[in-house]
Amino acid sequence: MIRVRYAPSPTGTLHIGGARTALFNYLFAKHHQGQFVLRVEDTDRARLVPGSEEGMIKGLRSLGITWDEGPDIDGEFGPYRVSERILRHQPAVKQLIDQGLAYRCYCTPEELDQERKRLAELKLPPRYSGKCRLRPSDDPIFQSDKPFVVRMKVPSEGETVVDDLIRGRVVFENRVLDDFVVQKSDRNPVYNFAVVLDDHDMAITHVIRGEEHLSNTPKQILIYKALNLPLPQFAHLPMILAPDGTKVSKRHGATSVEEYRDKGILPEALINYLLLLGWSAPNETEIMTLDQAAGWFDLDRVQHTSAIYDYKKLVWMNSQYMRTMSITSLIDYARPFIEARHLDISEGPSLSQTMELGRERAHTLEDLAEGLAFFYERPKTFDSQGVSKHFTEDGTPTRLRILAERLDQLRVWDHDHLVSVYDGEAQREGIKRAQLIHPTRLAVTGKTVGPGLFELLEVLGKKETVARLLDVATAIDEQRLVTKP
Ligand code: GLU
Repeated sequence: MIRVRYAPSPTGTLHIGGARTALFNYLFAKHHQGQFVLRVEDTDRARLVPGSEEGMIKGLRSLGITWDEGPDIDGEFGPYRVSERILRHQPAVKQLIDQGLAYRCYCTPEELDQERKRLAELKLPPRYSGKCRLRPSDDPIFQSDKPFVVRMKVPSEGETVVDDLIRGRVVFENRVLDDFVVQKSDRNPVYNFAVVLDDHDMAITHVIRGEEHLSNTPKQILIYKALNLPLPQFAHLPMILAPDGTKVSKRHGATSVEEYRDKGILPEALINYLLLLGWSAPNETEIMTLDQAAGWFDLDRVQHTSAIYDYKKLVWMNSQYMRTMSITSLIDYARPFIEARHLDISEGPSLSQTMELGRERAHTLEDLAEGLAFFYERPKTFDSQGVSKHFTEDGTPTRLRILAERLDQLRVWDHDHLVSVYDGEAQREGIKRAQLIHPTRLAVTGKTVGPGLFELLEVLGKKETVARLLDVATAIDEQRLVTKP
């Protein structure tokens, strides 16, 4: 049985990199009818952020990622918080010491610091001298109650090989690995040690995680070997970089799943986009459900070169989802954005009508709410370029009043009858229809772009359309139109 895990540290919010790792693990498990475990790595107590675990769980669930076992779903391999597994870690450290594969190190932080500085002056990389490794076993310090850490005895020669399912064979020379710490002075294991035991005890078969952990893997392999445990398979997912080759930061869009939600990106679109950050479907399909992706997903289609994060593409994908999803789901997702604008939707056209029009042009839910606001409140400001182009003090008020009158006389308020009013008026005046459409749109919506005019007037309704045209005609006459750049 294939078993994989996603093992976040609850030290902040769920970032897109973490969400992608969780997603690839989830899909891999699903594809192979395996099991997916969520394990919370909360050993670094100093960096814990209250509420982070709950936030991550909520974030993953909002994206449609589910797991078989985790802190919130008990299973036979629990507990699923690393801090609750500590009793298992300490005896294993002792076992390594007893076998002479690890040792207690009493060097103080000040001594280590001085050593690092000395090496830096000689332009050498930081490296533990091995002072305590060389102490004779009857050194009285071992009987003292001085604080100590436990270090692995890393062989000074040879190499440790990571056979990575994505990157192939990656070789690390042991001499660069240093005698790294496995247990801190407070007796807590470090991540590299705990992760080995936890992955083994939870019967994890494949460790799929971000490339930033590749340099940890040889250390973990040395621990597996020292404890005589079988190795899992390793797969390191490519980095996610911004188009300029730097780490993705807020300046490139957003970094956390919550921020995307707040910007009005649908979870369906975000997860679909994350799927393509380092993986591609066999037939190059881009828009797909998680079930479809699970059918196709395997590690052989994960690239080993960095994935480039492109916010524009994400927004494009979002617009595709907004256009095709059911109108009721779209309304549910858009509601908080409408509420944030304090729009009174109890009056005016139904949300399903206005959204049907608005979604054709919107890229995010935020855009959508912004774009349909005019259906529920009269524009307070008018696009200034549009005003100088389409509103003239002499001609426009009269023209708007005539249109208002003709529209008021319409008995059937639908698209075709609206078109005939505009065609008739344009012909009578000997002008192009567009010369009537632009001022009308600006008067009714305050903007120069938006849904098709006749479609939007049909939804806005006769009374409101006529009232707005007359209002704007008067405002132009009285020179009190407020413009906005
Ligand atoms: N807790 C580690 C992290 O959040 C996980 C490392 C791993 O998957 O082994 O990056």
